[in-house]
Amino acid sequence: MHRPLVWFRRDLRADDNTALLAAAERSDDGLVALYVVSPGEWRSHDDAPVKVDLWLRSVALLSETLGALHIPLLVETADTPGDVPALVRRVAREHGCTEVHANREYEVDESRRDAAVREALGMPLHLHDDRVLLPPGSVRTQSDTAYTVFTPFKRRWLEALTAAPPSPRPAPPPQRPIRDIRAGAVPSRVEGFSSTIDPGLWPAGEPAAARRLEAFTASSLRGYRTGRDLPSIDGTSGLSPYLAAGVISPRRCLAAAMKTHGEGPDTWISELCWRDFYTHVMVAFPRVSMGRAFRPETDRVPWRSAPDELARWRSGETGYPLVDAAMRQLLATGWMHNRLRMLVAMFLSKDLLIDWREGERFFMRHLVDGDLAANNGGWQWSSSTGTDAQPYFRIFNPYTQASRYDPDGEFVRRWVPELRSLDKRALLNMEKMGPLERRRLGYPEAMVDHAAARARTLSAFKGL
Ligand SMILES: Cc1cc2nc3c(=O)[nH]c(=O)nc-3n(C[C@H](O)[C@H](O)[C@H](O)COP(=O)(O)OP(=O)(O)OC[C@H]3O[C@@H](n4cnc5c(N)ncnc54)[C@H](O)[C@@H]3O)c2cc1C
Repeated sequence: MHRPLVWFRRDLRADDNTALLAAAERSDDGLVALYVVSPGEWRSHDDAPVKVDLWLRSVALLSETLGALHIPLLVETADTPGDVPALVRRVAREHGCTEVHANREYEVDESRRDAAVREALGMPLHLHDDRVLLPPGSVRTQSDTAYTVFTPFKRRWLEALTAAPPSPRPAPPPQRPIRDIRAGAVPSRVEGFSSTIDPGLWPAGEPAAARRLEAFTASSLRGYRTGRDLPSIDGTSGLSPYLAAGVISPRRCLAAAMKTHGEGPDTWISELCWRDFYTHVMVAFPRVSMGRAFRPETDRVPWRSAPDELARWRSGETGYPLVDAAMRQLLATGWMHNRLRMLVAMFLSKDLLIDWREGERFFMRHLVDGDLAANNGGWQWSSSTGTDAQPYFRIFNPYTQASRYDPDGEFVRRWVPELRSLDKRALLNMEKMGPLERRRLGYPEAMVDHAAARARTLSAFKGL
C-alpha cells in the first residue's frame, strides 16, 4: 500500500503542482500533506513579515482546497532548520506514510536541509523540479557549461520551450479519504513576523493569483513592452509574490501568455525567462547565494561604510524624488516596480558606493516577493558585480530616469507628499531647486552630487 506524504514549501497550490500530482499517482491508500512553520529558517533568510503573512494566509486556503480533495494538511513547527529532518520523519511515520514528495528548493541551505531529511527519513524522498520552467542545469552552452549571460541563455531556453511547451495540469482528483487524520490549524501570525502592511494589498491563495493573471492578460499584456517601464500605471502583472510563494505555477503564466501574440507577450515571456535564468545562475554558481560576487574581482571594490547615508536610502530621504518614491512604495506595500528596483539598487551601489549586500538584505527584509535568486541576480546586475553584459559604467542618472519613466511626476507625487504641490515642470527640474526651496517644502537636499558620485564609482571599478 502507498500513502505518500506531500511536503509543501514554496509551492502553495494544488493546481499544476508536480510533487502533489506525482504523489497522487503513486497513492492507493490516501494522501497526507505537511507544511512546516519555520521561524528560525525564515529569520536566518531575512524573510519579510509581509511575505510570511502572505504565506500563512495562502497555506490556510491551501488547506481548505486540499481538504476538499480528502488530503489533510498537517501543520508543524520547526524552530530551527536542524529540527526539520526528525520532524518530517516523525510526521511521516505517525501517519503511516510510505514515501515523501516535495518540489525541489534550489538554494544552498535548503538543498542541505533536504539532504539531511533524506538521510534521516528511512523511506524514499522524491524531489521534483517544479519552480522554474526548465530545470537548472538543463539549459547549457554548446560546450556544456552554464550560461553567464542572459541573451544566449534566452535563445536556448526559447528553443527548448518551443520544441516542448510545458502544459499546466489541474489539481489531482479527490483521494481516498483517511478517517483518523485531521488537518492542522494554520497560525494566523508567527512571533517575530508581524506585518504592518495591509493584507488587502496581497489577497492570498490560488483564486486571487489566477484572477490577477487573468486581469493582466486581458488588460496590460498587449501593451506590456512599453507599459512595463511606467511605475505610475498597472503595466506589469504584480504576480511576483504569487510566483515566489508558488501560489501560481510559471507554466500557467507561460500558457496564458502564449495565447496572445505580439511584442507584449514576447517581452513578458522574457521576464519569466529572467526568473529562470537567475535560478539557473544560483545553482551553477552557488557562491552567489553565500554572499559572494558573481564576478569575484568585484569583491575588491572599496565599498564605503556610511551608516547615515544607508539609513537615508532605506527611509526614502535621499533628496532624489524618484529614488525616495520607490523606497517609500517598498516600505508601504512590500513591493517595488522593476525599473525602480534597478534605479535604487544602482543609487545605493554606484551613487553612494555602498555594498550591494546591504541593499540585497534590506530588500529581502521588506519584499513580499523576496526570492534569493531573483533578488541576488537583480542586485548583482545593478551593481555590476553580476551577470550584466554591459560594463560597470552603466550608471542610471536618477533625473533622466524620472523624465523618461515618470514624465508627469505622477508616481513621485503619489509617494512623496512633500512634493505634491509641484507641477510636472518643477518636479523634473528638482536638480536645479535650491536648498531654501527644498527646506520650505520639507524635502531634503540631494544627499550626493550624481556627477561626482559617478566619477568616484568609475575610478573605484577601474582600479580592480
Ligand atoms: C535589485 C532587484 C531586486 C529584485 N528582487 C526580486 C525578488 O526578490 N523577487 C522577485 O520575484 N523579483 C525580483 N526582482 C525582479 C523584478 O523586479 C520583479 O520580479 C518584478 O518587479 C515583479 O513585478 P511583476 O510581478 O509585476 O513583474 P512582471 O513584469 O509582470 O513579470 C512577470 C514575472 O517575471 C518575473 N520577473 C520579472 N522580472 C524579473 C527579473 N528581472 N528577474 C527575475 N524575475 C523576474 C517575476 O516572477 C514576475 O512576477 C528584482 C529586481 C531587481 C533589479
